[in-house]
Amino acid sequence: MKLLVVEDDVRMAELLRRGLAREGWAVDVAGDAVDARHAVLSNPYDAVVCDVGLPGGESGLAWCRWLRQEGHWVPVLMLTARTDLQDRIDGLDCGADDYLGKPFAFGELAARLRALLRRGETERPPVLRNGDLVLDPAEHGVTWQHSAVELSPREFALLDYFMRRPGDVLRRSEILDHVWDFAYDGTSNVVDVYVGYLRTRLADAGAPALIETVRGVGYRLTALA
Ligand code: CA
Repeated sequence: MKLLVVEDDVRMAELLRRGLAREGWAVDVAGDAVDARHAVLSNPYDAVVCDVGLPGGESGLAWCRWLRQEGHWVPVLMLTARTDLQDRIDGLDCGADDYLGKPFAFGELAARLRALLRRGETERPPVLRNGDLVLDPAEHGVTWQHSAVELSPREFALLDYFMRRPGDVLRRSEILDHVWDFAYDGTSNVVDVYVGYLRTRLADAGAPALIETVRGVGYRLTALA
């Protein structure tokens, strides 16, 4: 069993690493969201312990949301110093599987991790369908009439968001919020650029024009039967 600990506090990270190693788990430590991204993209982990408070402007919650958007379903246990209800809700909302407030007893952390490890990655979200367009969040795959549509991770996240709201007009600001998670300024045309990429990929796969521009507002994925 291999675990990833995402924690910037060096003493806390070392405490976790040693404690978890004593339980017989192999442990890698990442000090921020960027390191954690590299780590999960290059290693298969059985579980992740992630602190909410991370340096560099990307919280543990945002990192976890990114992880799920990228189609990684490794169990995540979030750690935070804050214990009020809203934080717990935010923690689970971002796609974490469990939540533990600091300070915690190490025995409780280990017990909860064992429970998550037993459960594994079984809780996958269902496949999204819009007519002949099918997106599988767990497999990170998209097909049009059973042939693969090749997408970059960001294009995939964008299509995933459209596929959850077919027929709805999505404002640019909403799309930025859900797909990027970063504080882009209001003048950024990154959404338009990526919608353009996505249209090209879909057209290359033989799909009809499905993403409609709603002038002055945003975009809409045509709802197919
Ligand atoms: Ca921290």
